[in-house]
Amino acid sequence: MKVPACRACGSLRTRLRGTRVGRTRPTEFSFHDCTDCGLLFVEPFAGFELYDDAYYRGQGPDPFVDYETEYRDWRATDRRLELADLHRLAAEHLRGDARPGPVRWLDFGCGAGALLKYLRDQGAVANRPLELAGHDVGSYANLLRDRDGFRILGLEQLAAEAPGTYDIVSMIEVIEHLPAPLLPIRAIARLLRPGGLLLLTTGNLDCPVARRQGLDFGYCVPEIHVSLFNPAALGRLYRTVGLEPVNLRYRDTVRFKALKNLRFRPGLRFAARALLTLPLVVRLIDHLYGVSAMPCAVKPAATA
Ligand SMILES: [Zn+2]
Repeated sequence: MKVPACRACGSLRTRLRGTRVGRTRPTEFSFHDCTDCGLLFVEPFAGFELYDDAYYRGQGPDPFVDYETEYRDWRATDRRLELADLHRLAAEHLRGDARPGPVRWLDFGCGAGALLKYLRDQGAVANRPLELAGHDVGSYANLLRDRDGFRILGLEQLAAEAPGTYDIVSMIEVIEHLPAPLLPIRAIARLLRPGGLLLLTTGNLDCPVARRQGLDFGYCVPEIHVSLFNPAALGRLYRTVGLEPVNLRYRDTVRFKALKNLRFRPGLRFAARALLTLPLVVRLIDHLYGVSAMPCAVKPAATA
């Protein structure tokens, strides 16, 4: 069998970890570890065609996807917890930053637009007004541009933006879907201003639960999650493009993830909602799933 090249660093020093049949496709997918950069990646790439309207309704490989509700009324979803948490983390990063003018925030992979809408409602972060832009493709990206008036940019338009345009770039549960994860991170590194923050979330394949479950870990959905990271691999990817990894402490994001995964278990979810008010429970779940262990990144001022 031909050895596949690593999706992140291109190395041919990769090792077959195992195989899994897709959730919605009878295809057998193989999972490979890169011994150079630590990425776990999936072959073959199932293609972007499966991100269709059925996928957005949760009828594809990820039953937790519900773009319609999120687009129509994000306030009705538990995602508002995550959105507020991201806003808090951005505010903490910007605190003490005395530069005048608006905070420019790009949501890379803006999906159904919940974060953009939340931020537009907030209007400001760290007492500075927000200027928003989003990047995505597909029917919801068109709606966000045409109906909601957001500035939604394609890859070519992003490439035409001046270097250092953005103070904050968010990339929430996006990178695992991308077959060539280095390219967007390189583009984001160029778009961030020195001192700017990349807020990135993705599953942690080295968390205690993943280590125990191996390829049965719930995040291993080979049709859609093709580039799987652990903290070291993600940190290495950042450094490749001149970004410095930084660890932030998530709180309500952890609550949101726990509740989301209990979406189809209403009884448990009810109990979880009460338990998740306890900071110690949140810390325990954070440890088990390694949420805060996954680094975000800052663009060093020295590379200006
Ligand atoms: Zn690699």
